[in-house]
Amino acid sequence: MLLEQVEYVRPTSLEEALAVLTEVDGAAPLAGGQSLVNVLKNRVASVDLLVDISRLSELRSITRSPDGGLDVGACVTYDELDRSPEVREVHFTLGDVAAHIEDQQIRNKGTIGGNCCLSDPTNNLPPILAALDAVMSLRSASASRRVPAAEFFKGYFATALEPGELLVSVTVPPMPARSGAGYASLHVAADAKAMARAAAWVQLDAGEQTIAATRVVLARMASVPVRDAGVEARLAGAEAGEAAVRDACAVAAEGLRPIDDVHGSSDYRREMAKVMARRAVMQAIDQARGGGDGAERTRRGGRG
Ligand SMILES: Cc1cc2nc3c(=O)[nH]c(=O)nc-3n(C[C@H](O)[C@H](O)[C@H](O)COP(=O)(O)OP(=O)(O)OC[C@H]3O[C@@H](n4cnc5c(N)ncnc54)[C@H](O)[C@@H]3O)c2cc1C
Repeated sequence: MLLEQVEYVRPTSLEEALAVLTEVDGAAPLAGGQSLVNVLKNRVASVDLLVDISRLSELRSITRSPDGGLDVGACVTYDELDRSPEVREVHFTLGDVAAHIEDQQIRNKGTIGGNCCLSDPTNNLPPILAALDAVMSLRSASASRRVPAAEFFKGYFATALEPGELLVSVTVPPMPARSGAGYASLHVAADAKAMARAAAWVQLDAGEQTIAATRVVLARMASVPVRDAGVEARLAGAEAGEAAVRDACAVAAEGLRPIDDVHGSSDYRREMAKVMARRAVMQAIDQARGGGDGAERTRRGGRG
């Protein structure tokens, strides 16, 4: 279906974009357009004015924050995340997740901000950002606020964004010593949406034998990424090895009711969540044992 006629504006500054979004009823930000344009073509939603934020320099940088973490502008594309030396050094897995989103065309246009603001439960970046404890910086014409990634996603295609607000950047804290991240997805076919997905962050104790701290996030088990408190409780203080991790992940997705559909039953998806959680945690442990420096993590990281 063809796009209906719609007004378009390309502001030259963030302030101008925020002013337009506040002043014009029916205005919506356009980032990579990979989802929004399809939504408009399919008449699922309508917009009166597309405010193109994709080239605003304020939203396009990747910088190291003073504490050694990363500040990623909302309009940084997946391809830029993948190719960024800073991202690969500090958060190898984040770059790797971006590198495996769909195809090169989508990676050239799709943005970290669009991926999060759409809040499509099948999107790749929300679970890894929640596992890495990222913080979303939001701005309106009159105020700024910061929302942890875990609280940003509110439901199917729903976020904490208020009308007139933009996500301007995503701050990912530094990787402490002896910590690593992992990510694992199950797809029914190479180009299909994931049925079950897990992202994990793990920090080992000083001897690197037991798990000191962890965050385990499941996706596709609910409308938003969910931290699995049951798995995390079992992992705390556990031996950092396959048997203990398998045992801890045996309770993954308990109490959650993922959808039943032609690709798999709810029970099957829950079983697969256990496997994805185990793989993600084992990857994170492996990465943590690669040492605290990013270069070593870069050599040792891997995709789920
Ligand atoms: C064929 C195809 C396959 C895909 N496969 C995958 C996949 O496997 N994994 C995956 O993760 N994604 C996939 N996507 C989705 C793709 O990643 C989109 O790019 C993403 O969902 C939206 O990012 P965008 O930058 O294109 O945002 P847009 O489409 O421009 O915007 C999406 C929504 O977010 C809002 N928005 C955008 N940026 C901001 C901001 N900074 N502040 C506030 N609101 C904002 C827009 O108003 C809109 O409502 C696929 C898309 C297509 C077309």
